Amino acid sequence: MLHALSFDVEEYFQVANLRGHFARSDWDGVPSRLEQGLGAILRALEKQRAHATFFWLGWVAERHPEWVRRCLEAGHEIASHGYEHAFLQDLGRAGLVRDLELTEAALMAAGAPRPEGFRASTFTLTRATWWAFEVLAERGYRYDSSVHPIRHPVYGVPGFEPGISRVDAGAQRSVVEFPVSTWSFLGQSLPVGGGGYFRLLPFGITRAACASIERSGRPLCFYLHPWEFDPAQPRIDAPWSKRTRHYLNLARTLPRLEALLAHFRFGSLREVLREARALD
Ligand SMILES: [Zn+2]
Repeated sequence: MLHALSFDVEEYFQVANLRGHFARSDWDGVPSRLEQGLGAILRALEKQRAHATFFWLGWVAERHPEWVRRCLEAGHEIASHGYEHAFLQDLGRAGLVRDLELTEAALMAAGAPRPEGFRASTFTLTRATWWAFEVLAERGYRYDSSVHPIRHPVYGVPGFEPGISRVDAGAQRSVVEFPVSTWSFLGQSLPVGGGGYFRLLPFGITRAACASIERSGRPLCFYLHPWEFDPAQPRIDAPWSKRTRHYLNLARTLPRLEALLAHFRFGSLREVLREARALD
């Protein structure tokens, strides 16, 4: 079974968890660490002949168009992660339209086709921001991967269909939703689709969860970030809980991704959705 792999392309200083430590106005003054993480990811994917979707922040694409092209030349899908990592509830409808326009322009200026897929910053597509589906459909997006079907204090849509589904976006339109993978265990929906949990959980647990999802006939939707492949990034003096979430096991991300790629077959979200005939 072909599974979906994705990377949300943002700099370590744009992560929501470290938000309080880097003002938006200071971003241009912070040296980029994109190359360290993205370079390691592209080499690992090439070695295993796997494809992925790269959800780019428009802000990053504007500053590193050559890395957008490298992803394209290696056969990966380019999609949108919004312009500057703003939360949907802060953007509002008109703000999201502007945010998508800026990102589309940045990606296309770098040589990418118009993006078909979107992932909101920090899974902020919740019941409170459900209107985002209408905006995405109006702008021609075919799929979204922003819903996290878990219970979480900040984001999440508990009880949402964990596999691929179609969301009504009004005006006889709909958008395909491909949520990040969750694993139903002891009546709980556990997030096993990447990010901090991939670094936190022993690899054997992730592998068992992925195998269980595969057996249930659902393709995985996995996500990671370039900064998670950069153990030498500058350390920020943040509170303990934020530091743990950001820096835990950074040196293990790459070998764990390589192990995951050896155990499961991965492609882009678009490839998996096409195989599932979800985009017809
Ligand atoms: Zn992000």
